[in-house]
Amino acid sequence: MSNPMDRADRVAAKLAERELDALLVTDLVNVRWLTGYTGSNGLALVGPAAQRVFLTDFRYLTQASEQVADGWQREIAPELQQAVTGFVGPADGKTVKLGFDDAHMSVRDHTALAGRIAEGVELVAAGGIIEDLRAVKDADEQARIRAAAKLADAALSEVLTRGLAGRTERDVALDLEMTMRRAGAESGSFPSIVASGTHSALPHAVPRDVEIPKGTLVTIDWGAQLDGYASDCTRTYATGELDPRDREIYELVLKAQIESLAAVRAGAGGRAVDAVAREIITAAGHGEHFGHGLGHGVGAEVHEGPRLSQRSEATLEVGQVVTVEPGVYVPGAVGVRIEDLAIVTADGSDVLTSLPKELQIIE
Ligand code: ZN
Ligand code: ZN
Repeated sequence: MSNPMDRADRVAAKLAERELDALLVTDLVNVRWLTGYTGSNGLALVGPAAQRVFLTDFRYLTQASEQVADGWQREIAPELQQAVTGFVGPADGKTVKLGFDDAHMSVRDHTALAGRIAEGVELVAAGGIIEDLRAVKDADEQARIRAAAKLADAALSEVLTRGLAGRTERDVALDLEMTMRRAGAESGSFPSIVASGTHSALPHAVPRDVEIPKGTLVTIDWGAQLDGYASDCTRTYATGELDPRDREIYELVLKAQIESLAAVRAGAGGRAVDAVAREIITAAGHGEHFGHGLGHGVGAEVHEGPRLSQRSEATLEVGQVVTVEPGVYVPGAVGVRIEDLAIVTADGSDVLTSLPKELQIIE
């Protein structure tokens, strides 16, 4: 962040658009994005007249003073939800509209907050304000996602030198996660998927204690979490000569991936980009075997906005980071998914994934 308070100012501008006076930020990923704080108990209040309050408990006193930018008024309290009510009250007899994150706040917390809040403060459901802002990444965030993708690519490349056939799916997944950790990742950005043979037809397959055979397809979907940011990528490999049906499906998914990735640019609709891949796959008779959306945003969380799907209402913007990941899953037979991560630019995209997409044979 060039100026750490820029994000709070952007939130304040959104509040004005939505006719809110203040926003209570309770989701920890949103709190981190907004303030820099990485602890496990904290909340932020963005109010009128540059009011910026960050609350945590005494355990995080030092951490908060190190991480939370100086523009924030840092407060320590045993009960954050209770304490925050002391910072919001009606101004000049006018009702104050306090937005809260209805997508993340529990009913219990909401009830407690509503019971304590001052007369003249109205709680207004306002989920999604920070998520919408988070969808567009600044240069610092783009650099972190790029670094996470680079680390993940290098880790898989190293794992592949140890081969695939004859190892269990679980062994490959563990090897990949350990390799990412050793290279500096905080963790995988989600549990890695390693799915071979008919199991590759399950989009969210859990790695098994089953040996990967020769002459089959193996789908590997993995990502690294680095400096608070995620990456996400999928490659499907062959462990030897394939039967023509499997190769045909691979080539189909590859074509859909290349063409839909080429449709990514600022101004393109999330639905329109999805449709590029979907039409190619449907024309080949596999429309019903592509049962998920084409892609999603990636940032502090591995799944965030915008969505590329049949129901998406998003219009892509410069600086968003999205996956493009068509797949074909023939139940009981075979599955292929190919996924790249890309930064949306004015006239296309900047692809962060460096691994080849032409079918590779890894024995
Ligand atoms: Zn993925
Ligand atoms: Zn993905």
